[in-house]
Amino acid sequence: MPSYSGNIFMVVAPSGAGKSSLVNALLARDPSITLSISCTTRTPRPGEEADKHYRFVSQEQFAQLRDNNALLEWAEVHGNFYGTPRDRIDEALAQGRDVMLEIDWQGARQVRTHFPQAIGIFILPPSIEALEARLTKRGQDAPNVIARRLLAAGSEMSHASECQYVIINQEFSTALEQLGQIVAATRLRYIPQAERNAELFSQLGISKTVA
Ligand code: GDP
Ligand code: ADP
Ligand code: 5GP
Repeated sequence: MPSYSGNIFMVVAPSGAGKSSLVNALLARDPSITLSISCTTRTPRPGEEADKHYRFVSQEQFAQLRDNNALLEWAEVHGNFYGTPRDRIDEALAQGRDVMLEIDWQGARQVRTHFPQAIGIFILPPSIEALEARLTKRGQDAPNVIARRLLAAGSEMSHASECQYVIINQEFSTALEQLGQIVAATRLRYIPQAERNAELFSQLGISKTVA
């Protein structure tokens, strides 16, 4: 097992901005990334599969997971509870695998307290009108749920500046390229490169720490 740890990417966005579409498309291209599967008390949407999209749990099960410290972070979002199971993340990082989390700004803050090196990527819609159109087009949420999510979009976006990177998801293929570029650049940062290539760095007499 390698001694280095993988990278943590947190994809944050208002509902409907396209984070699941982008993340799923990236993972199809790069299956080496581990997707965090959140627990949620939300009911499944049509077509959503248990343990693929989410681990769907009751309020009681969620409280138990939280109280047993099984969640790396948790938050109440749009009236439901969401949380990131700790075990999958720890296992992936220990194996040197990169992990991607789709979480809200409250969760991102909590993850940063445990992993300050976690990379935040905020996905913005090209406009509020486009966001509304996407939520409606997706057709998986009731009108009152869509209205609630749109209302919450402004407050989610007010936390965009807590992320290091911003992608404007106008043209899907462009946004996908940009997400891939962030992942690629992160993998080339000095410390992870030094850890991955320890032998070469030693042979070349190069420092394994940043000056
Ligand atoms: P999910 O896969 O259940 O999360 O469903 P989504 O609503 O996120 O996406 C549905 C499908 O639409 C996925 O197969 C996406 O890859 C695809 N998709 C999303 N946005 C675009 C887009 O702008 N252009 C194209 N061509 N496909 C898209
Ligand atoms: P989120 O996970 O952020 O809630 P989704 O990935 O479910 O958002 O995307 C919301 C809707 O917008 C989906 O129907 C998706 O196909 C569509 N969508 C995503 N990106 C784009 C884009 N660049 N242009 C047009 N539609 C998009
Ligand atoms: P949805 O119900 O559309 O799948 O997700 C709604 C919101 O919950 C999204 O903005 C998403 O970022 C957030 N979310 C999903 N999973 C988690 C999680 O594990 N933790 C936190 N904090 N937020 C999450």
